[in-house]
Amino acid sequence: MKLVDTHGRVIDYLRLSVTDRCNLRCVYCMPRQGVLKTTHDNILRYEEMYRIACCAVSLGIRKIRITGGEPLVRNGIVSFLKQLAGISDVEQLVLTTNGVMLYELAEKIRDAGVQRLNVSLDSLDRETFASITRSDKLTTILQGIEKARLCGLHIKLNMVVMRGVNDHEIIDFARLAADSSTTVRFIEYMPVIREAEWQRMLVPSREVLSRIGSCFQLTPLGPADFAGPSSNFRIDGTDGVVGVITALSDHFCSFCNRIRVTSTGQAKGCLFSDASVDLKPALMEQDNIMLARMLKSVVEAKPVGHLISSSGCSYQSFSMASIGG
Ligand code: SAM
Ligand code: SF4
Repeated sequence: MKLVDTHGRVIDYLRLSVTDRCNLRCVYCMPRQGVLKTTHDNILRYEEMYRIACCAVSLGIRKIRITGGEPLVRNGIVSFLKQLAGISDVEQLVLTTNGVMLYELAEKIRDAGVQRLNVSLDSLDRETFASITRSDKLTTILQGIEKARLCGLHIKLNMVVMRGVNDHEIIDFARLAADSSTTVRFIEYMPVIREAEWQRMLVPSREVLSRIGSCFQLTPLGPADFAGPSSNFRIDGTDGVVGVITALSDHFCSFCNRIRVTSTGQAKGCLFSDASVDLKPALMEQDNIMLARMLKSVVEAKPVGHLISSSGCSYQSFSMASIGG
């Protein structure tokens, strides 16, 4: 079965957020004091998330990404990952993490059946890292990344680029990709919490590429299976890859293949739309008929694109941690 939206896009990718809690406080994601924590009762149980995942897969989802908040802070996450990996027809089970708990969990995550990790890493400099994440966990994270690599997990690093904050490290990250044969993706800063003068921080991806291009020769790569929104380039003469995610400057909406479900059971067709469908009533039913209908309705209502741009936004302010990025 295939899930196709009204604009002809095949939807085969589910981003499932397992928690809105986090052990970091990235400035672009949440305020220092954290977001108002959702009460325990409101967060879906793993059984409910598993049911949603199975139903989505029966409709055509083939790739599941577990995200958060920080997914590794939720108790029982490894067993849940193992359960998801056991769903036949799931072709890719991947995880996005800030890496803080990777050192202790990398092996278990691999054994559970996760194939790939995206690790968010916005700076290689201790002070800059601390100013972005409001923590001093850089060394712990780097050790976790190394451990995960040694365990055989395939890792991509994601850096949110912010002018005047960490954009001076773009070349360092490209060099890291080249030297360690890894993939680094540069994400355009998105104004989700709508801070004043956010436009000032945006470094358009074309500028990122031009800066990297002044130091390295780049060869464009075609899209991979279940390609995300990243345009990727090989750094010539190396196995390193750099990618750019042009969330704002050049919408990738026409290729969007995803839906999202938050840890409170809100299904969303677009990160930047205020529309969501509460799946909880469907989870009270014995069978999955209503659940399947609701998931299909989210796909059908997927907007053709979002309206944010470097000049404005059309949605309510939100924390990425509450939806899962
Ligand atoms: N805690 C995990 C992490 O940081 O990787 C997973 C959840 S986090 C919300 C998912 C992704 O969203 C991260 O790569 C993070 O950098 C990105 N993100 C959060 N807020 C963002 C923003 N304002 N602009 C761009 N990316 C953002
Ligand atoms: Fe936490 Fe990830 Fe948000 Fe940073 S981006 S505060 S690590 S949820």
